[in-house]
Amino acid sequence: MDEVKVLLDMDEMPRRWYNILPDLPEQLPPPINPATKEPIGPEDLAPIFPMELIKQEVSQERYIDIPEEVVEAYYRIGRPTPLYRARRLEKALGTPARIYYKREDVSFAGSHKPNTAIAQAYYNMKEGVEKLSTETGAGQWGTALSLGCALFDLACEVFMVRVSYDQKPYRRIIMELYGSTVNASPSDKTNAGRSVLEKDPNHPGSLGIAISEAIEVAATNENTKYSLGSVLNHVLMHQTVVGQEALLQFDKIDVKPDVMIGCVGGGSNFGGFIFPALGRRLRGEDNSTRFLAVEPVGCPTLTKGEYRYDFGDTAMTTPLLMMYTLGHDFVPSPIHAGGLRYHGDAPTVSLLHKTGDIDAVAYDQLSTFEAGRLFTKTEGLVPAPETCHAVKAAIDEALDAKKKGEERVIAFNLSGHGLLDLKGYADFLAGRLK
Ligand SMILES: *Cc1c(COP(=O)(O)O)cnc(C)c1O
Repeated sequence: MDEVKVLLDMDEMPRRWYNILPDLPEQLPPPINPATKEPIGPEDLAPIFPMELIKQEVSQERYIDIPEEVVEAYYRIGRPTPLYRARRLEKALGTPARIYYKREDVSFAGSHKPNTAIAQAYYNMKEGVEKLSTETGAGQWGTALSLGCALFDLACEVFMVRVSYDQKPYRRIIMELYGSTVNASPSDKTNAGRSVLEKDPNHPGSLGIAISEAIEVAATNENTKYSLGSVLNHVLMHQTVVGQEALLQFDKIDVKPDVMIGCVGGGSNFGGFIFPALGRRLRGEDNSTRFLAVEPVGCPTLTKGEYRYDFGDTAMTTPLLMMYTLGHDFVPSPIHAGGLRYHGDAPTVSLLHKTGDIDAVAYDQLSTFEAGRLFTKTEGLVPAPETCHAVKAAIDEALDAKKKGEERVIAFNLSGHGLLDLKGYADFLAGRLK
């Protein structure tokens, strides 16, 4: 019981992804074509996604085999990832609770995002696609997809929101080292970008504009497809390698989490972490774990949003998705946790919150950086500003357990490190955060 970290061998890596769709308590409302108001079909998605991913998006199979080449790439970039016990944080809090964290920061891109980027690059390569296009804000997703494309010899074109392109050069440099073309968005390479630049040549850009540019490139170029890093069913499914490994690690030390926690932007690291355990509950096998989604007060989709159909993007180019949303025109406050500034949430996570299977809590930016500082000082690892939300919730659970004298087992997903996001910590240390 003295464990600090729980490791897995290569042959213990998951060989299949877990698809939660067949286990959902209600049928998932389908994406809707905004023009016809009819559910969209595979033919609507075929111009921008490869067939295998379209199939996975609607699959009712509980498990889908992970191709050998993808398993090998997972191994190369750091899977299986360790599960750590936060003994020094527990001690600092004086709590009887045990806190564990799953280390997704160890991947080459510094976050969980390669788990889907690698799978998506692989299927595109298999279907003869030569180039992927995508958007990125601060660059986490662009970096992960660039890595995936580099490993499977695909070209990659990234539209990076201009303010980030100008102010956060480091991830752009990594993307370029991987061989990607990185454009500041709005760019003069697409109709969508040019029309914005005509009105305002100094437009700072937005994720919505970058999405429109990336989709236009995929839709208008032969052998080019588009790739999305969160929200969609197949993306969350690829991330379930995280939760499956964690369950195996907890089984090894004969421990069961009372609560599993993750931060939620679009919902991919949270879904990937909790779905395998939540599936056990949905199938009536085990009901001992609570599931807690954590979001910023500045973008409170699950805690303050409405459950309804809305566009996935600001520019209203995507199908309508049934989800908790703040409205596609919602402008979140400019918090440092850029990955959590999405107006909606994955339809699966949204449905499971509506049915009461997932709880949600929101924290302000200052308290999350405070949690990040304590975690760094005690555990020695700098969490990403997004991840600090999960850290804060874990600390609050541990303090609640202390108050009640409970030996609670708390597990959270350490979705990424913050070594390329130090501006937020700098503002925090200088007292510039409100
Ligand atoms: C992108 C990102 C997130 C948010 O995205 P999800 O799809 O909600 O997981 C969280 N943490 C890190 C480190 C990220 O890079």
